[in-house]
Amino acid sequence: MVLNKNTEFCCCHFVTMKAPIFIRILIFSIVIQFTACNSAKQSLITPSKKPKRIIFLVGDGMGLSQISTLFLQKDNTNSFKRFKTIGFINTQSGSHKITDSAAGATAFACGEKTYNGAIGVDMDTNSKANLIEKFSEKNYVTGLIATSSITHATPACFYAHTSHRRNEFDIAKQLLKSDVDFFAGGGRDFLREMSAEMQLYNWNIDTSDEQDWKSITFHPDSKYGYLLSGNGMRTIVNGRGDFLYNATKASLRYIDNRKSFMMIEGSQIDWGGHANDYEYVFAEMKDFDKTVGAVLNYAEKDGNTLVVVTADHETGGLALKPASYLDVDGITHNNYDEVEGSFNTGGHTAALIPVFAYGPGANEFQGFYENTEIFNKFLKLMK
Ligand code: MG
Ligand code: ZN
Repeated sequence: MVLNKNTEFCCCHFVTMKAPIFIRILIFSIVIQFTACNSAKQSLITPSKKPKRIIFLVGDGMGLSQISTLFLQKDNTNSFKRFKTIGFINTQSGSHKITDSAAGATAFACGEKTYNGAIGVDMDTNSKANLIEKFSEKNYVTGLIATSSITHATPACFYAHTSHRRNEFDIAKQLLKSDVDFFAGGGRDFLREMSAEMQLYNWNIDTSDEQDWKSITFHPDSKYGYLLSGNGMRTIVNGRGDFLYNATKASLRYIDNRKSFMMIEGSQIDWGGHANDYEYVFAEMKDFDKTVGAVLNYAEKDGNTLVVVTADHETGGLALKPASYLDVDGITHNNYDEVEGSFNTGGHTAALIPVFAYGPGANEFQGFYENTEIFNKFLKLMK
């Protein structure tokens, strides 16, 4: 029987009205004990459970229009629909109303509003501790996957500290000395001639263009790096294939059953936006969506994994506008049955960015807040 406030009241009311004094005391004490026991039980259940694993997915340049492209498909199946917990972030940087990916990722990784171009440093170029450093201190396994070079701005902010995003050779050196345990992406050109460091820091680095991800056996005490291209990886349209999906699935086997933090980036949604290429953006969105789906499937089965999906900013000012047509009199009309992607800029925009969360701790990500709060929320949920 569950005792709610009404039955409590009825019971007490009955006791006060009719029963002799010793029975009243007896019943009162039973009610008090029952209530105390009930609330003790609740207090065991109520504290929000902390996740054992946090998987943070960033669609670089992914605003609401980019996400909406997935909802416009005939089959209308996508992974974003599965989220029930949604928030919004304000992405302005420390130096500009419109952020770049470096300042945006420094906000996520270090909780610091900094200048555009900064990698893991504040406005005065002082290094700020990042999530991977913080989580590693608590013995989390950490990993990064990107479809850009692994030394590119977004992933770099999770392990490096340098005054500018263009210092990619310096960033690469910092990667090998960092607490990162697993990485996959492009960037071979920046890690060449570093075999000494690779051995010194116990890395297993694989530089093959292709990987048979399913057949890789991971040793939990080893560090793994996969560099599949010289710089950024190919686009989906030009044959990147299921790299993001497969590398993500492989990383889930590596982190399985362990306290872990992963950042997985769909890097090229942004590049499609810069190129004002709707087909590019859409193909990269589909690729990212498929990966989000794989992570959600894992989290659903696992029950101990928090999944958070967001973007650093929107790119291209993408509008999903009606196609237009001319009638016989030469007057232009909107065709509301057909959507066209139309870009307003070759750069980034200042629009609020949605945050999607699933799993233990997901409720933390509701509401409107600054992009730096992502960092604080993850730290709060650290075990
Ligand atoms: Mg990026
Ligand atoms: Zn960009």
